[in-house]
Amino acid sequence: MTAKTIDGKAFAAEVRAKVAEHVARLKEEHGITPGLAVVLVGEDPASQVYVRSKGKQTVEVGMASFEHKLPAETEEADLVALIDQLNADPEVHGILVQLPLPSHLNEDLVINRIDPAKDVDGFHISNVGRLATGQKAMVPCTPLGCLMLLREELGSLSGRDAVVIGRSNIVGKPMAQLLLGDSCTVTIAHSRTKDLAEVVRRADIVVAAVGRPEMVPGDWLKPGATVIDVGINRVPGDKKPRLVGDVEFASAREVAGAITPVPGGVGPMTIACLLANTITACCRANGLIEPEGLTA
Ligand code: NDP
Repeated sequence: MTAKTIDGKAFAAEVRAKVAEHVARLKEEHGITPGLAVVLVGEDPASQVYVRSKGKQTVEVGMASFEHKLPAETEEADLVALIDQLNADPEVHGILVQLPLPSHLNEDLVINRIDPAKDVDGFHISNVGRLATGQKAMVPCTPLGCLMLLREELGSLSGRDAVVIGRSNIVGKPMAQLLLGDSCTVTIAHSRTKDLAEVVRRADIVVAAVGRPEMVPGDWLKPGATVIDVGINRVPGDKKPRLVGDVEFASAREVAGAITPVPGGVGPMTIACLLANTITACCRANGLIEPEGLTA
């Protein structure tokens, strides 16, 4: 049986439509326009593409977008001063500092300067702690997107065996916390895991967030498993480089029950969840009820 392909692009469009609906309602009923500030330091080409795409989608859902582009040699004190200014600005409900920062800047210090209530990337240490202790948090966008896809595909995740491959602070660890929050039995695998194939074979849910092209072949999977492939890897193609995930799609779809493609799976969910987090932050800041289905 061939697995269902989980259409992340279509689901991300649904999430954005839901966000846009709530933005319109906030404007109409409360006179509030949710605002997202994105700070980019330096000229990293990939970061510039992401920031442009974030700004465009922010405006498309009716939110205010504030872009702050600073030169690569910006001093820490100046970046911190900008964050303080955004923290105090009532028109800004979400703040995102595009990573990575130039190496002379201390990323932890900068991220932890953001007001946790406006930390739409969910990287502030207080949000990390809140997520780990099951309190209301701002949740990192990529794992939140994966969780939404899993809930949409499977309904309740309770009692399912889940394996997260990768233990980064951005994807692997928060993903594991979210799955635990939904009552999965969670295993976190990493580069020192012994017999990864055997660990993966036990799982009803596999989330691969490694960054190694097609490292998970189909014969590692439990038949019928749901596979979420976070990896984005550029490999040589016939004419130009092509993108592949951490899972070998062709063999995996012969065994899995459902699987996200790369591209078009998790990728589009990340910005959609950034917008979802911004509306959540805006509602919380104004003491309003949060939209359903857009948070963990
Ligand atoms: P990191 O490099 O920070 O983490 C990779 C993790 O994979 C580490 O925990 C590492 O283990 C583990 N790992 C490495 N080799 C192996 C192996 N052979 N077996 C098992 N585990 C291994 O990456 P990120 O978490 O930031 O990103 C992971 C992937 O997801 C990348 O391809 C990235 O591009 C993509 N990504 C996609 C996003 C999207 O929007 N779709 C957003 C963010 C990331 P150890 O800790 O032991 O070193």
